[in-house]
Amino acid sequence: MSAPVAALKPTGATPAVIDRVKRNLVGLKMPRALEIVDVTLRGIERGETTAVEALDILLAEELTLRENRRIRIQMARLSAIKTLASFDFSFQPSLDKNRIMALADLQFIDRAEAVHLIGPPGMGKTHLSLALGVEAVKAGRSVYFGSLADMVGALARAEREGALRQKIRYFCRFSLLIVDEIAYLPVILGGGNLFVQLVNARYEKGAVILTSNRGFAEWGEIFADSVVAAALLDRLLHHAVVFQIERSSYRLREHADLVPETPDKAQHPTSPHTPTLRRRGRPPKNGDVDPAHG
Ligand code: ADP
Ligand code: MG
Repeated sequence: MSAPVAALKPTGATPAVIDRVKRNLVGLKMPRALEIVDVTLRGIERGETTAVEALDILLAEELTLRENRRIRIQMARLSAIKTLASFDFSFQPSLDKNRIMALADLQFIDRAEAVHLIGPPGMGKTHLSLALGVEAVKAGRSVYFGSLADMVGALARAEREGALRQKIRYFCRFSLLIVDEIAYLPVILGGGNLFVQLVNARYEKGAVILTSNRGFAEWGEIFADSVVAAALLDRLLHHAVVFQIERSSYRLREHADLVPETPDKAQHPTSPHTPTLRRRGRPPKNGDVDPAHG
C-alpha cells in the first residue's frame, strides 16, 4: 500500500519523514537548519526552489551560523586588547577621535557604507578596524575580518571549485566585512576581478571597513589593472567615510591634500572633513570646513 495521497506533499515527503529530518537536525545540532526547514520545504512545494537548492540553503545557513560563532569567539578574544578604549588617540593627532567614536554607533553599518582607514604601517589601522568590529559583534551584528589577500585567496579557491557564487553569497551574509591590508603586495592574478565581484555584490547592501597603507591612486598597481581599480573605487567611494592617518606628528591636518591625487572622480573624497561621501555634490574645498563635521 502506498502512503495516503493527502499526506504526500509535492516535496515527496510524508509528515513522518519531515519529522525524522527534524529530529536528525536536532541530533546533529543544526539549529539554524531546523529553524528554516519548514519554510525551505514550502519553497519546494511552491516550485520556487529545487530539492538541491533547498539542501544548499539549509547547509549554507547552518555553516554561516557556525562561522559567526567562531568569529564571535575570535572577536571576543581580540576585544581584550583591540578596543576603542585601548586606542590612545593622543598618539594620533591626525585622527579625529569624535569621528571615530561616532562610528561606534554603527549607523555606518545600517547605511551600508565603506569606511577607509589609510596610513603608514603601525599607525593603528588594524587595531581600529578590529575595535569597530568588536563593537558590531557586541551589538549582535555579524562581522567577517580578513586580509585582502586571504579573501581573494578564498574567492580564487572557490572559483576553481566552481563555487564562486556561493562564496560571494557567504561573504555577503555578514553585515560588516573588514578587509584588512590593502597593502604593498599586489593581489594574485585575477584577484582584482574576483574582489570586484564581491564588492559589487555587497554594494549598498553591506558595510565594509578597508585598511590600507596605500592611497587610492595606487590601487591600479595593487590590483594590477586600472579598470578593476576604477570599478572598485567607484563602488567603495560612493557612500564612504575616509580617515587619513599620518605618521604621528603634531602637524595640523592639511585638508584635501592628505590623500594622493587619483585620475578620476575617486579623488574627491579626500577631505578629512567629509565623513560621508555621496556621488552628488563635492566635498568642501581646501580650507573649507564643513560646519556639520569640522
Ligand atoms: P597598522 O594596521 O596601521 O599597521 P596596527 O593596528 O597593527 O597598525 O598597530 C600596531 C600595534 O600598535 C598594534 O598592537 C596596535 O594595537 C598598536 N597601536 C597602534 N596605534 C595605537 C594607538 N594609538 N593606541 C594604542 N595602540 C596602538
Ligand atoms: Mg594592519
